[in-house]
Amino acid sequence: MASTLTLEQEINPWEAQAARFDFAARKLNLDEGLWRVLRHPSREIIVHFPVQMDDGRIEVFTGFRVQHSQARGPGKGGIRYAPDVSLDEMRALASWMTWKCAVVNIPFGGAKGGVICDPKKMSAGELERMTRRYTAEIIDFIGPEKDVPAPDVNTNEQTMAWIMDTYSMHMRQAVTSVVTGKPLTIGGSRGRREATGRGISVVCDEALKHLNIQRDGCKVIIQGFGNVGSNAARLMQEKGYKVIGIAEYEGGLYNPEGIDACSLLEYRQRNGTVLGFRGAEAADPVELMTTECDILIPAATENVITSRNADRIKARIVCEGANGPTTAVADEILADKRIFIIPDILANAGGVTASYFEWVQDRQGYFWKEALVNDQLDSILAESFDDVVRYSEAHAVNNRIAAYMLAIDRVAFTIRQRGFYA
Ligand code: GLU
Repeated sequence: MASTLTLEQEINPWEAQAARFDFAARKLNLDEGLWRVLRHPSREIIVHFPVQMDDGRIEVFTGFRVQHSQARGPGKGGIRYAPDVSLDEMRALASWMTWKCAVVNIPFGGAKGGVICDPKKMSAGELERMTRRYTAEIIDFIGPEKDVPAPDVNTNEQTMAWIMDTYSMHMRQAVTSVVTGKPLTIGGSRGRREATGRGISVVCDEALKHLNIQRDGCKVIIQGFGNVGSNAARLMQEKGYKVIGIAEYEGGLYNPEGIDACSLLEYRQRNGTVLGFRGAEAADPVELMTTECDILIPAATENVITSRNADRIKARIVCEGANGPTTAVADEILADKRIFIIPDILANAGGVTASYFEWVQDRQGYFWKEALVNDQLDSILAESFDDVVRYSEAHAVNNRIAAYMLAIDRVAFTIRQRGFYA
């Protein structure tokens, strides 16, 4: 199947999701009806809406919210702003959220949203007006018990504050639990910002124990230095890992003795770029992907490990901080090379797990200390790693397929229990 795909098909995230889903469903002997139910999202909302730009022009933006499944609880998943947002990408990301929430066993379904725009070219005012109008357009379909958005690529705490405020204005009361990833002052959770990076460090710890590799000095290359990559770098460095490479879209950094993540963060804050940082030499970001290391962490966007570079990857472990960084074709190549994959729906689940804690705290009106958030997060991620690895051994499949099987099994079980409303 894989080799007959064109590169365009290979990098279509929906195809990537569907290929793994079909494979895992077949392995599970999933009955045909449930297969049909879970293969496609249950709701796809497309909105075209006007926004007044700073120069007075009216621009029309296209936004999406795709809800893949709400069988195990309200939909859950981020909202991204990017020029290449598409319905197929939303469908894939929404399904991945269903599987991710099921892998870590939290009571949510899966959803994802996005707006086609170039946030780098928009002012804060334009972004705010776009966010508020997008929220108003999808308002009937989101809510604490319906579907709970969160940050994703190019959205942040501020974006969530605007959504929370817009929703609350319409409801005529403050509704903090409509989104997660909010600022602390309006119902955000301690530890949420760092949670995805933290989860990555936990599953890497578990992988090293499993493979009998020592943590001290373990060499890590991270692609992407946004919220996920930078927090993973900082937390892993604290634990004794050595971050030897950072690949950003604008350029890369390499230092076999280790790059100090905190100094790099400060440098980037001051200069707006990682380029020119004194604590490492400049490196080609594309080459960094195939540079020798113990752990490679793609933590930026989809499709960075494809049939074009998979055979040259020299890491022992690939830990997927981003959603969908590896294509299905590349999976097979990495499997032949016996590279240990920690799949996205497990590796980056720390974010949504802390989102779950945030939602719980908002509904209770009682806020946890950071240590409690971190402890709970660590144990959920470590248990889920164990579940996936045991599933993979029991069924003789790779970790990714094991994670899908575990997730599909949990969702299918719930659907059978609930039965079909007709
Ligand atoms: N956007 C993040 C993800 O892909 C977080 C989702 C959430 O917290 O709901 O997992």
